[in-house]
Amino acid sequence: MSSPADKDRTPDTPRPSNFLRQIIESDLDRGTHAARLWGGTPGDARHHSQGSVDAARIRTRFPPEPNGYLHVGHAKSICVNFGLARDYAGTCHLRFDDTNPEKEDQEFVDGIIDAVHWLGFDWKDPEGGRENLYWASNYFDFMYRAAEYLIERGLAYVDEQSPEEMRANRGDFSRPGVNSPFRERSAAENLARFREMKEGRLPDGAAVLRAKIDMASPNINLRDPAIYRIKHAEHHNTGNQWCIYPMYTYAHPIEDALEHITHSICTLEFEDQRPFYDWLLDHLREGGLIAAPQPRQYEFARLNLTYVVTSKRKLKHLVDSGTVSGWDDPRMPTIVGLRRRGFTPESIRDFCERIGVTKDYAWIDYALLEACLREDLEARAHRAMVVLDPLKLELTNWAEVFGSDAHLEACELPALPHAREGEAVPTRHLKLGREVWIEREDFAEEPPKGYKRLFPGNRVRLKGGYVIECTGCEKDEAGHVTRVLATVVGGTKSGTPGADSVKVKAAITWVGAADAVAAEVRLYDRLFTDPQPDSGGKDYLALLNPDSLKVARAWVEPSLAAAQAGDKFQFERFGYFVADCADHSGERLVFNRITGLKDSWGK
Ligand code: ATP
Ligand code: MG
Repeated sequence: MSSPADKDRTPDTPRPSNFLRQIIESDLDRGTHAARLWGGTPGDARHHSQGSVDAARIRTRFPPEPNGYLHVGHAKSICVNFGLARDYAGTCHLRFDDTNPEKEDQEFVDGIIDAVHWLGFDWKDPEGGRENLYWASNYFDFMYRAAEYLIERGLAYVDEQSPEEMRANRGDFSRPGVNSPFRERSAAENLARFREMKEGRLPDGAAVLRAKIDMASPNINLRDPAIYRIKHAEHHNTGNQWCIYPMYTYAHPIEDALEHITHSICTLEFEDQRPFYDWLLDHLREGGLIAAPQPRQYEFARLNLTYVVTSKRKLKHLVDSGTVSGWDDPRMPTIVGLRRRGFTPESIRDFCERIGVTKDYAWIDYALLEACLREDLEARAHRAMVVLDPLKLELTNWAEVFGSDAHLEACELPALPHAREGEAVPTRHLKLGREVWIEREDFAEEPPKGYKRLFPGNRVRLKGGYVIECTGCEKDEAGHVTRVLATVVGGTKSGTPGADSVKVKAAITWVGAADAVAAEVRLYDRLFTDPQPDSGGKDYLALLNPDSLKVARAWVEPSLAAAQAGDKFQFERFGYFVADCADHSGERLVFNRITGLKDSWGK
């Protein structure tokens, strides 16, 4: 099996490890899911038994709670789940996990749908193109029915201990739990009491339904976990129909089973939940409630990225406190933030592929994400020259060489370093005149040792233009250089036979004062100065990078006046930039720095 990222990999680069591929390939070889029927929509065993052999060879799912914006960690989960489904001719469901009767926010639902689409995935069946977008709350009826089934089989009971008693009786790692005095109630008694819970006759917290497993289990998750609780709250989908709601650990396996998920992939925190996942689905399958074969859960290590926090609570705090401008601030690790920063879906998918899928707890270097971006844009981002810290340069002999001070000399530069197959190299046009903007750091009145750029008596090339020779500078009363003076050396234009007649040690970037366009350039950097800003009890708010945003009033070359929001460029010598999605327009040019040309953080 191959994935799209394969084509870019040379044969001797090993495929990043992904143990899930081995599991899926072995399931496919053994035909574990080959005879599986699919009823066309999620449902119980009877529903699927009336369907036909599933056209999707595997089914995975991505199950976000619609309570926030997705971040780079979710991107990994998305790439794993949707990527595996794509690679193995399966489908991945997008399932909103809305079993909590909290106010659900349409903004978050829309944001999640957008983010998954933007990353390049969809949730259609391989044949027929049916959309697999589901809501967990649509399964409440089945979940209730399954709970009654467990009660009837003596596998669940209503516990009316107080929450404190329940906590104390659960025990801990060194102490087994203690059976609840309600544990031996008869099935009939439990059923009647559970129905009273459902009918709203008990207040919040008065009782819970618990699975009857083993209060002495070394796995605390098997010590009679709660599966239903009372919560008199309205739900966005089911309104006031329910005042009892399933617990996540109970709801999740059932959601997977009704959707006939083959491989339920989650992060390692859920490893200890797997025995309950299997316990529950084993019983429901044996009872004929859910279709066989039942889903299996597999865990991988969550993504931890250096210089980034991914906790929803902490990200929300950064937004609410005004530390960043919003969820889509280009410094945020949210998918909307990464997108506005200029990261491409290709670079994020490549990053997720390269870090692989393992069970090892590790921190991934943020520099790897940036390297993926550079690799993606190197061959396709048009080049442009910009001056971020402008200083005026005057070519004092202009009229002598070109006949008039008003003369503008057309210069042509390649927009890409290499042509694409069968295409000519695209070009860009700049006009060189008597006055030119150069970078302030490209002039030194008294050059430090080894300095090769402009200083009195030295010659450099204006990139793609002429060789010039520095003759001096003008200063204000405070001694600040206000203007650099130079002469142009005739006959040395780049691309002409005379270009090599004069040797220089440096070529500097420039923009002609006559056709330069003003732009705001936002120089973003890492939001935190510490590689692990919220680990080991550190106060992430004390580790904010004060220089995470600097704004430059720049002059940019005229080709950039046509940039559309979202267009990406390589600004020569400075790195990769994107025309800002929110603020850039034809009247007001705004560019964001995505990343520098090479990894220079901390150097
Ligand atoms: P919450 O604390 O609100 O549950 P969450 O980050 O787990 O936050 P969910 O909406 O439950 O948010 O996550 C959806 C899916 O994304 C889950 O399957 C979860 O395991 C996965 N996920 C979340 N964070 C990461 C991460 N850092 N790396 C890999 N997967 C992640
Ligand atoms: Mg979660």
